[in-house]
Amino acid sequence: MFEKILIANRGEIALRVLRACKELGISTVAVHSTADANAMHVRLADESVCIGPPAARDSYLNVPALLAACEITGADAVHPGYGFLSENARFAEILEEHNIHFIGPKPGHIRIMGDKIEAKRTARRLGIPVVPGSDGGITSDAEAMVIAKTIGFPVLVKAAAGGGGRGMKVAQTPADLSNALANARAEAQSAFGDDAVYLEKYLAQPRHIEIQVLGDGHGRAIHLGERDCSLQRRHQKIWEEGHSPALNIAASNSIGETVAKAMRELEYLGVGTVEFLYEDGKFHFIEMNTRIQVEHPVTEAITDIDLVVEQIRVAAGGGLDLKQEDVKFFGHAIECRINAENPQTFMPSPGKIVAYHPPGGLGVRVDSAVYNGYTIPPFYDSLVGKLIVHGKTRSECLMRLKRALDEFVVDGVETTLPLFRTLVREKDIIDGDYHIHWLEDFLAKGGIDRV
Ligand code: ADP
Repeated sequence: MFEKILIANRGEIALRVLRACKELGISTVAVHSTADANAMHVRLADESVCIGPPAARDSYLNVPALLAACEITGADAVHPGYGFLSENARFAEILEEHNIHFIGPKPGHIRIMGDKIEAKRTARRLGIPVVPGSDGGITSDAEAMVIAKTIGFPVLVKAAAGGGGRGMKVAQTPADLSNALANARAEAQSAFGDDAVYLEKYLAQPRHIEIQVLGDGHGRAIHLGERDCSLQRRHQKIWEEGHSPALNIAASNSIGETVAKAMRELEYLGVGTVEFLYEDGKFHFIEMNTRIQVEHPVTEAITDIDLVVEQIRVAAGGGLDLKQEDVKFFGHAIECRINAENPQTFMPSPGKIVAYHPPGGLGVRVDSAVYNGYTIPPFYDSLVGKLIVHGKTRSECLMRLKRALDEFVVDGVETTLPLFRTLVREKDIIDGDYHIHWLEDFLAKGGIDRV
């Protein structure tokens, strides 16, 4: 097992990893920018190192500073959390060259899945159903038109290097295609420094359903069921739940087993999430994330398995003790991402939290790094915390969520709490009857102001 883990992240995920390390008896090193000197992850870690000024590129993305921090503290492994360097294959390689373990998949797998064109090819080869679309990158508008007409409009132009919903443009008709290509290319170039794009059939009303996997890197891999992340704004998830209200247990097990088998063949190491769009009873692979995800506590709630502990164990070469039949599902869980944002426009609202009171009680978990008097800096994402509730049934879970949201106090900044308080009372949400465009439609009709 590792002796000392450096956590190359901040906020709630840095705390989450720190907690797992403590329970495993592993020493922790926090790193922080000058803006985060008073952050909770810094206060709770055994040691901490300042790695640079506020801008992420100078601190949390600063590889030489992180290497120096490992050297100074003698850390033998790095946990990258999510975001920042978590899906940077080169970072994983550099650590290995310095005899420091990267807690994540093999660099080759990070690289394949980071290129969405390669990821789709790999998925197809491994027997995972993919969204109809171009086989590779698009080299000309004429080629795109031929492919688009074959798969049928509307089509979606997507960036090969995409992430966070950027570099994605819909072409409803042939007349829109050339603009969509140009806009997606320009956005991809500025966001990722890579303008490669590909085409996909644009699905009208799918759900986003993803499968959590865990592998030992030597051909043992299991799945831990699915999460439904269909409630999104600007292609970003805000509410996640498991099981999906749209799947029965047989359908869930069947896609889970397809994915687990593929991961065994790939000899995948660590935690990962294979993402699908699900429409008319069919799954279509869109991408794989090779890291721990924001919404992992949903799976932890319904399986009672600590995913970060398992992630650290397999990275240390301890193998996978869990067998598929050891994964038992209990009840239902829902996570809400509470952001410091206007609940209607989603404009960020950084600033000082003057009153903070998180909810509690049976089946309620809050993963957050904020506290009374904490100032949310403007430099990073606007997550205040994640509220995760668990109940025996989905309806019990919804009642619990309602009362937990009503208890939650965050004063001083705007938050998305009022949006969730509205959503949990909406008929379609209560019925589980929603898809990836549901929230956009709801906001277009006036959102919380209408209610
Ligand atoms: P990113 O890596 O930028 O998050 P994804 O490929 O994971 O991009 O897609 C993010 C979201 O965009 C999906 O959850 C879905 O809402 C939407 N999306 C992606 N591909 C399609 C598609 N082919 N048809 C309709 N919506 C899509």
